[in-house]
Amino acid sequence: MKLDVDVLRYLSKDDFRVLTAVEMGMRNHEIVPTELIDRIARLKRGGTYKVLKNLLKNKLLHHDSSKYDGFRLTYLGYDFLAIKTMVNKGVFQAVGRQIGVGKESDIFEVACEDGTILAMKLHRLGRVSFRAVKSKRDYLRHRSSYNWLYLSRLAALKEFAFMKSLEEHGFPVPKAVEWNRHCVVMSLVQGYPLVQVKQLQNPEMVFETILNQVVRLAEHGLIHCDFNEFNIMIDDDEKVTMIDFPQMVSVSHRNAQMYFDRDVECIFKFFRKRFNLSFQESTDDNEGPDEDGRPCFSAIDKSSGFLDKELAASGFTKKDENDLERFIEGEEEMGTHSDDVVELAEDMRETNVIGDESLQLEQDERNGSKNEEENSEAAESSDSEKPDASDGEENDENMTQNDAELTKRLNKQRRRAIASARKGQKSFASRNCYKAKGSKSAHNSKIQKQLSGW
Ligand code: ADP
Ligand code: MG
Repeated sequence: MKLDVDVLRYLSKDDFRVLTAVEMGMRNHEIVPTELIDRIARLKRGGTYKVLKNLLKNKLLHHDSSKYDGFRLTYLGYDFLAIKTMVNKGVFQAVGRQIGVGKESDIFEVACEDGTILAMKLHRLGRVSFRAVKSKRDYLRHRSSYNWLYLSRLAALKEFAFMKSLEEHGFPVPKAVEWNRHCVVMSLVQGYPLVQVKQLQNPEMVFETILNQVVRLAEHGLIHCDFNEFNIMIDDDEKVTMIDFPQMVSVSHRNAQMYFDRDVECIFKFFRKRFNLSFQESTDDNEGPDEDGRPCFSAIDKSSGFLDKELAASGFTKKDENDLERFIEGEEEMGTHSDDVVELAEDMRETNVIGDESLQLEQDERNGSKNEEENSEAAESSDSEKPDASDGEENDENMTQNDAELTKRLNKQRRRAIASARKGQKSFASRNCYKAKGSKSAHNSKIQKQLSGW
């Protein structure tokens, strides 16, 4: 997906207001009812509908009318919210070229006011795996738990927390600068992924250094779990930096030994093939140190607790860890899933758009609409053949087909909004729209104050 940051420049305060309203709604709606968006954003004279059209045109939102009329954020929309927040906080000023694309992330250079260039990683959990998982009816039945916003945000938080901790313990990792939503900003590594390196001055030494890191990690109670030539960067002085931490696990994980051995094996295999280092073939028994120098997991003196204590301090909880792990492992096993209610954190606060009061308003919406949602869920459980709303960007083509119809509908809703505003009505109901419940006008006026900064 292309991140056209030029669009960012042309987005108005109202555009961001509505985008944020959709994000708020997504805390408890997979597709946020259009009318709820309007209620949260509260632009004058039906302005929300006009803005929705613009956001849709720029692919920041996806429209869905399969159950009721509503919208969800696209990755691009979520990117823009995170980027806007980072810019507001003064973390960086501009987004530059894309420097990396992983299977579940996009990495860009970003420029700070003083000219420093940093790296920004946008997590995209669910991008690759969704089509595969989609065929699993069982999984889809619990699709509310399959929320890419939630998972990508967790991955970013975990990555940030690990990077910070590892740096504090003297590991060669990028410097963690800031995180927001699914976005992590870190120092730019001056080097290349090992996979791109054809020659080394001193392959034995680099090999030793890298292997030592795997052992040191285990001594600190951690296993990288994706320690390979793609996630090890090396510079012109052959200094090594490791990256990419969302899949790390504790040494007390039930598959710890397997993950550790796999990391070690990757390094051995790569150096044997690429740099012709010779080792004896691996023996399968893991008792005692191998003759070929493979570190033995059971022989390492491991200090546990590192993960739990330091990560808990960063705000990354055991529940977060479990949710993320279920997803990551679920990809391989296509099995289990989380049934937990999706809890997106209060990122909106940091955009300076949303404050405590509005989160409370949104909480009221959740309580007020719970029964209604349950009913509609039951009524619609039979239409599981319909395309799923969280289906990556693939529905965007369908969206174009429906553009004309949607424009008509939005215009109509807008006209009605204007009409009801003229009549001094507070709200209006449309045929297949979500019915607003539990409205708290006091909260609404507070949210207006919060939002008026845009
Ligand atoms: P993924 O989790 O998707 O594999 P990575 O964190 O491994 O993402 O990043 C993908 C690629 O982006 C890396 O292989 C590397 O080329 C580049 N990259 C990531 N982080 C940095 C960084 N801090 N500095 C420079 N390049 C980076
Ligand atoms: Mg990687």
